[in-house]
Amino acid sequence: MASSTTSTSCEACKCVDGNMGKEEKRKYELIGYDELPEWLKDNEFIHGYYRCEWPMKETILSIFSIHNETLNVWSHLVGFLLFLCLTIFTAMVIPMDGSNKSGSIATWGDLVDMANVTVALRHDALAACLLLPPSAAAAGLSEDGQQIWPPNTSSSSLFHHRHAIQIQDHRLQDIGGTTAVDPVTRWPLFAYLAGAMVCLLTSSACHLLLCHSEHAAYLTLRLDYAGIAALIAASFYPLSYYTFLCHPSTQRLYMASITFLGAAAATASLLPAFQAPRLRPLRAALFSAMGASGVVPIAHKLVIYGATAPGAVASARFEALMGACYGVGVVVYAARVPERWAPGRFDLVGHSHQLFHLFVVAGAYAHYLAGLEYLKWRDFDKCY
Ligand SMILES: [Zn+2]
Repeated sequence: MASSTTSTSCEACKCVDGNMGKEEKRKYELIGYDELPEWLKDNEFIHGYYRCEWPMKETILSIFSIHNETLNVWSHLVGFLLFLCLTIFTAMVIPMDGSNKSGSIATWGDLVDMANVTVALRHDALAACLLLPPSAAAAGLSEDGQQIWPPNTSSSSLFHHRHAIQIQDHRLQDIGGTTAVDPVTRWPLFAYLAGAMVCLLTSSACHLLLCHSEHAAYLTLRLDYAGIAALIAASFYPLSYYTFLCHPSTQRLYMASITFLGAAAATASLLPAFQAPRLRPLRAALFSAMGASGVVPIAHKLVIYGATAPGAVASARFEALMGACYGVGVVVYAARVPERWAPGRFDLVGHSHQLFHLFVVAGAYAHYLAGLEYLKWRDFDKCY
């Protein structure tokens, strides 16, 4: 569907090898901003190294070559792999549904181990995902299961966790010399991890494939928007579920609201009519409102539990860190710095969209750490 007009196609990106009579071979080269069709022009401060209307095979294979989208693709692809790893790691390390690996009910010994592992998890999750030896994940535990790492972690986190265990001890039911425990369900955390993976993967695919054609750009940008909606909506699940575990109607209200908003945003993202440039502010407002509305349940959490549940405060700290990461990322993205200050100098490395991607991955990881704080809190502090 190539157009013959220079305003909608980029013939300059293809040069013929010059051998008359032979099947024409085309070599696909990187081009400059001025040679781009209108639908590919996005940031005038990035001057070169653009792909344009390459065949799908060459477009996909360009994941292994250098152009101005290479780091955009890989930053979120690595982020996706990180979250895939965190999902597997979380599923393997933390007992599910009150059962240990042997399928029998968890004992007090399991509970202590789980407490220590959960604390150590926060420090070791990244190390484990970088494929360090399995012993690295357990390095924080002594042989009798006591926390010995990180050093000097008489930190409030560990203190509060042990304190929580002591408080909870009298609530646990003793069965035949062992103590039963019922870990809180993990599905809200896994829902968040799934949302993060969908967002990071669709973003990476969008950056890789968008240049193939105007139609590919049309499709992948919609999927990218839908992925963002999935991430924002899924981010509310651990917050709403674990915080309001003892307030079922409030819990259901928050979760139903964000599910409705997320579905509305994702659907709107996929509707062609909603993609008109003049509606861009409306789309931006929709996503921003979804994200900013997280302030409501977080403030609600601190009002109810701020003075009594260390887990509520610890998780709120990570949620604030997440908000700061996303906020700085959006400002950098909108301001288009640093390339604005030196146009053409950051075409390959260091432009605003790459920095934005790094802030998104950092913010998503901070939210995962908040999720671990919820597990630490709710595994030992339920509703009685
Ligand atoms: Zn992006």
